Amino acid sequence: MIIHEKIEHHLQELEACGRITVKFGVPLSEYCTFRIGGIADIAVHPTDEAALTDVLSYFSKNEIPFVIIGNGSNVLFADEGVSGAVVFTDKLSAINCSGTVITAGAGAPLTLTSSIAGRNGLAGLEFAYGIPGSIGGAVFMNAGAYGGEMSDVVVETRCYNAKTGKIITVKGDEHAFGYRESCFKKNSMTILSTTIQLKESDPSEIKLKMNEYMRARSEKQPLEYPNAGSVFKRYPGYYTGKLIEDLGLKGYRIGGAEISQKHAGFIVNRDHATADDVLELIAYIKEQIKKAHGIELECEIRYIV
Ligand SMILES: Cc1cc2nc3c(=O)[nH]c(=O)nc-3n(C[C@H](O)[C@H](O)[C@H](O)COP(=O)(O)OP(=O)(O)OC[C@H]3O[C@@H](n4cnc5c(N)ncnc54)[C@H](O)[C@@H]3O)c2cc1C
Repeated sequence: MIIHEKIEHHLQELEACGRITVKFGVPLSEYCTFRIGGIADIAVHPTDEAALTDVLSYFSKNEIPFVIIGNGSNVLFADEGVSGAVVFTDKLSAINCSGTVITAGAGAPLTLTSSIAGRNGLAGLEFAYGIPGSIGGAVFMNAGAYGGEMSDVVVETRCYNAKTGKIITVKGDEHAFGYRESCFKKNSMTILSTTIQLKESDPSEIKLKMNEYMRARSEKQPLEYPNAGSVFKRYPGYYTGKLIEDLGLKGYRIGGAEISQKHAGFIVNRDHATADDVLELIAYIKEQIKKAHGIELECEIRYIV
């Protein structure tokens, strides 16, 4: 995409007012846990919610495609990069705790939110401790682990529709949560903040649970190499990692991408992997699983072009 001078100038003006930081021609590999990806034409970090909605509305009016990224822990950016703007929510990171309710900005780290809940004697978010995402990414994905998921605790989510310029509040069932599913996957809304309902409990018990989950993560997951979490969704009745492991595929490599030797449900970036290496490896795994079990695996990781 050729960035029009007018657009560049407008964004630089917003930056001069301290409302956003903006960079042009940014390597996306620096903005995701996979450490893979080409160049983004425009990378924007709005400093607050009003700056975020203003900049999205501007992109929408000027027909500049954009994608929202939290912590980039569930994405694979294309080798060709992303045409248009990548908008990061990292600065919308406020976490407010009142009684048994926590309201967190889209960019608030999930693990920090879980930790703050625990310190305040609030149970319900222990499962999220150690998931390296943002609140926005976690609601979008309905992130979950160890028998819990965001749908158990989220009561309402404020979000922005860049086309209409309206902020709305999605409540309860309107989130349409399912296994790694939410309404936000379909409605293109940008999550601004979410409100979580927790229960009073003993902080030391909460802490014990969180430490146990963290220990299990570092024991089972290949945290020593860049990755984007579980590649595939669980297929009903099966553990995907086990299916892949049983086919003897642990350690199988294409280019720099490898099926983790520690956990076959993960692909790791062993050696300067490209997005194409990862995509080829995903296709290979799907083909092998289809041949062996007749089932079609579905990706959990989001491919961003
Ligand atoms: C080592 C490791 C372990 C993991 N363990 C788990 C686990 O146990 N359970 C689990 O569920 N996941 C796990 N994940 C995956 C990932 O951390 C979660 O899905 C997380 O919730 C994604 O959050 P994020 O901010 O990184 O989202 P991103 O990767 O930045 O984005 C993911 C998707 O959400 C969209 N999005 C992000 N923010 C917004 C927003 N504000 N508004 C609208 N759309 C938005 C993006 O456009 C993208 O499509 C793991 C990942 C890694 C690397």
